[in-house]
Amino acid sequence: MRLPWHTVAFEKLKKMIDQNHLPHALLITGAPQMGKFELMQRLVQTLLCQDQSCGQCTVCRAIAKDNPKEVLDTSVLIRRSHYPNMVYCRTEVNDRGVESKNIRIDQIRTFCEALNKTADDLQIGVLFYADQMNASAANSLLKTLEEPRDNTLIILLAHNPKNLPATILSRCQSVHLSPAYDEETQAWLKGQISQIQNEDFDIAQLLENTHGVPFKVLSELSGDGFIHYQNWQNQLLEMVIHPTMLGQVQDFEGNEVEILNCLQNLVIEAIRLKSLDHEGGLVELNQVVKTVKSDFLFRLLDDIYHAISLSKTNVNIKLLLDNVLIVWSHITHLQRYPQITKT
Ligand SMILES: [Zn+2]
Repeated sequence: MRLPWHTVAFEKLKKMIDQNHLPHALLITGAPQMGKFELMQRLVQTLLCQDQSCGQCTVCRAIAKDNPKEVLDTSVLIRRSHYPNMVYCRTEVNDRGVESKNIRIDQIRTFCEALNKTADDLQIGVLFYADQMNASAANSLLKTLEEPRDNTLIILLAHNPKNLPATILSRCQSVHLSPAYDEETQAWLKGQISQIQNEDFDIAQLLENTHGVPFKVLSELSGDGFIHYQNWQNQLLEMVIHPTMLGQVQDFEGNEVEILNCLQNLVIEAIRLKSLDHEGGLVELNQVVKTVKSDFLFRLLDDIYHAISLSKTNVNIKLLLDNVLIVWSHITHLQRYPQITKT
């Protein structure tokens, strides 16, 4: 798949291939839903296809058929690609559809064994997401990275390289997918959106809301998730201008975590606008940015992160959200920042 916001990263990879400098281990990083898997697919197609990732030949089609979300066969711990010389390693999804948090050492061992077999053709192993490996899994992978074999390419996909051990990072060449706000990406999104909805959306604004993650725009637009999101966002913006609104919110109960996520996006956007001294597409948010103290935004963001992480415990999330919202609705005229979440 050719995606406009992949151009820079892909050119970097293409140069490595053309100059015969492709490393044994490659790390592709970027926020969730930036399309790291798709970039990896395009790279592998470019490497293997006789006709520069034509998209039509047996190899190209085999690789395009691989689906990252497909359930793993638990008895083998790793998954084979439709292309015979390629394997995947990822977190397991159990019978009830729950995804495990970590990639374990036994999975990494099986993955490395599959790659270490003798073969003439290039053996490719894709690991995602590398930042989900637990410490022993990472150690085990390191051994393979330290003794690279010819004819082997390991591609690690990771949301955040900061979560990877420095020892692994130093063994990989990395390529990063940056958030995209450019016109080409907007045009691509416009084409995609017209296939799901007829309404006229402000594409630039949608990209701002998702911090430049085009696939996130699409997933938020499909289904009624987006309508809810817009409604919550409007109410959150309303209450920061009219704090009395706080008592009249609708549709917040039962959606506490989603509201916190929505507010988190607004606060991040406010911080971004404040630091750039810019105006954004949301009139109310621009008003907040003008008068609010940066320090308060950062502290609120911390509290939101903390509240979201506490939501997985048996904390009273409704009360926690209420406290966060009291601060948010008064953020422009607070004298001192109060304590919301206790650590
Ligand atoms: Zn092809």
